[in-house]
Amino acid sequence: MSLENKVALVTGAGRGIGKAIALDLARAGADIVFTNRNPQLSEATRSEVEALGRKCLAFQADVSTPDEVDAMVKTALESLGHIDILVNNAGITRDQLFMRMKTEEWRDVMSVNLDGMFYVTRAVIKAMVKQRFGRIVNLSSVVGHTGNPGQANYSAAKSAVIGFTKSLAKELGSRNITCNAVAPGFIDTDMTRELGEEQRAAILGQIPLGRMGSVEEIAAVVRFLAGDGGSYITGTTIHVNGGMY
Ligand code: NAP
Repeated sequence: MSLENKVALVTGAGRGIGKAIALDLARAGADIVFTNRNPQLSEATRSEVEALGRKCLAFQADVSTPDEVDAMVKTALESLGHIDILVNNAGITRDQLFMRMKTEEWRDVMSVNLDGMFYVTRAVIKAMVKQRFGRIVNLSSVVGHTGNPGQANYSAAKSAVIGFTKSLAKELGSRNITCNAVAPGFIDTDMTRELGEEQRAAILGQIPLGRMGSVEEIAAVVRFLAGDGGSYITGTTIHVNGGMY
């Protein structure tokens, strides 16, 4: 179990990709700290992690609220002593054609996907620098690289994740902290279940492997970057999209 004695903080692990990442890291031996908003979903993730024999701290901290993030990280560090792996996964969409996009639709997406990543990373970074070890993995998206109609807000946030990731990699490499991004294509979760049948069919037509990805296929790449396999990889983006980009 390559991640034994490591603690991983995963944001947005109540369902979807984040939950799969938390369970996969736990299976590899890591204790888990996570946050999401829905208490029922939180409880389910917590009991599944604990069933794997790992410690688990569950929070309902909103990643877009710095005070809640700071309190979560403080409690986690007091309780478990260290955070070695950070996966900035929490994300939302507020799709809208640009001509109709409201300020809140822009702000909400920036607040969770981008500001949230900043707040959580800022909260854990001192501990990582002090212990001279850290693995940070940020969830970008294929649309941060290709653009997508109706997703100017989300695409902008997911492109910004890449600039943030590259800068941190340069700034923190000397402290043995790696920072990478994973850019999923279209993965079967609640986020993509919101798409209409027509949109789904159009997207599937652009994927050489001819199917959506699974949450486990993203989690496996995050685990690789967080473990020994990723020790000499930093500042890069791994695309996991069935060949669509
Ligand atoms: P999802 O199924 O909608 O799950 C999102 C998770 O984030 C949920 O656990 C949710 O909590 C949590 N969350 C949302 N806002 C939060 C906040 N303010 N504070 C704390 N937690 C919050 O999404 P997903 O499809 O798994 O996506 C996960 C990540 O991958 C996102 O960053 C997304 O942009 C990215 N991604 C997804 C796809 C895809 O095809 N699905 C493709 C590319 C990139 P609750 O459960 O409590 O609501």
